[in-house]
Amino acid sequence: MNLLFHFCLIKLYFRQFNNKEIELYMLETLKIGILGGGQLGGMLIRSAIDFGLNICVMDKDPNAPCARYTSSFTCTNPADYEAVMAFGEKLDVLTIEKENVNTQALLELSKRGVKVFPHPETIGIIQDKYLQKKFLENIGVPVVPGVAVLNKKDVIAHANRLPFCLKKCRSGYDGKGVMIMRSEEDLQNAFDEPCVLEELVQIKQELSVIVSRDVKGNIQCYDPVHMIFDKERLLLDFQICPANIPEELSVEASNIAIKIAEGLKLVGILAVEMFVTSDGKLLVNELAPRPHNSGHHTIEACNTSQYEQHLRAILGMPLGDTSLKFKSAMINILEPRPEQRKQLEAAINHIASTTGAHLHWYGKTNSKEGRKIGHVTITAENIENALLKTVRIRNLINNKYEKI
Ligand code: ADP
Repeated sequence: MNLLFHFCLIKLYFRQFNNKEIELYMLETLKIGILGGGQLGGMLIRSAIDFGLNICVMDKDPNAPCARYTSSFTCTNPADYEAVMAFGEKLDVLTIEKENVNTQALLELSKRGVKVFPHPETIGIIQDKYLQKKFLENIGVPVVPGVAVLNKKDVIAHANRLPFCLKKCRSGYDGKGVMIMRSEEDLQNAFDEPCVLEELVQIKQELSVIVSRDVKGNIQCYDPVHMIFDKERLLLDFQICPANIPEELSVEASNIAIKIAEGLKLVGILAVEMFVTSDGKLLVNELAPRPHNSGHHTIEACNTSQYEQHLRAILGMPLGDTSLKFKSAMINILEPRPEQRKQLEAAINHIASTTGAHLHWYGKTNSKEGRKIGHVTITAENIENALLKTVRIRNLINNKYEKI
């Protein structure tokens, strides 16, 4: 009886989703593709299993984490037009777990009837940090003021703006395409490619709000996350949810995220990273139209994880409840230097024996030093307990040799 009810519901979603009668569609008959086979794709697959979905993954790396999670793994480059066309033409729904994908192919597939979410136009805007900034300015969202520069010579010509933050327009990640320039001497190391030159912000706090929007325009936001960055590597150190900010700021941050999701006519998940400035203003730093590192905690800490929510949104199902079940913190685990491996093993043992600590190990092979190889989410009834455990684990992971 229950099963029958379930099937009827599924049919109903797809009738609404496609605006036409497709009685034969059931979730398990849909062919769903993901461009990118990293850890985010792995966590999407984990949620897809709960819905009985048929997932195909494409990544150029034969050792990508997803390669071992699906028998439908295609080892070609998501940035290549022909490869994306060949992968996508047999699919019903196509999504991404990274932005470096061929949007021309996605536009063409979309014209041919494949449901591509997020929309290829959205990916196109977000792939370029300058276009992203212009889009946000145009819809009235506060951003860090910045100008476009073409190359190193152009950066040097803007020396009068020092100090500033220089960001590659394309393909930056984990702080690798970002430089803080303080002196004329620093300018000699500037990136020699199209960049955005931004005012250097006096950052009080960094926040992320994850927002989801479905095909019908319904929206659900997750609680803001407080991200604590390593100031030297410009890389996330750890994060806490809910962020310890006044209620009005939390509402304002969520409203900004909702405005952007509506402006993009988003279908899926969007992470909106923001700065709280020293004088208490919110400025949007950057967007990611896919499940995001800052939403890892949603697996253990929320009623619906960001991964499940993304699938719900792109498949025309109702959005799930985003509310928190627990307070939480999340720490990235980075590939250590060879001599630090032993300490990392000790940290893993400690995590495995800590109540409320959940290890996610990505199973990467040949990872470079400093790359993300896992994360740990710590949940607790109150934030003090979560933080106590977090500090111990973080100190072990970071090899600070603290006694525990
Ligand atoms: P990535 O996409 O590589 O994560 P971000 O744009 O998020 O790059 O920048 C990484 C970090 O650099 C930010 O989280 C922040 O700590 C710092 N940062 C970025 N832009 C600025 C800025 N305009 N002023 C000051 N710090 C900045």
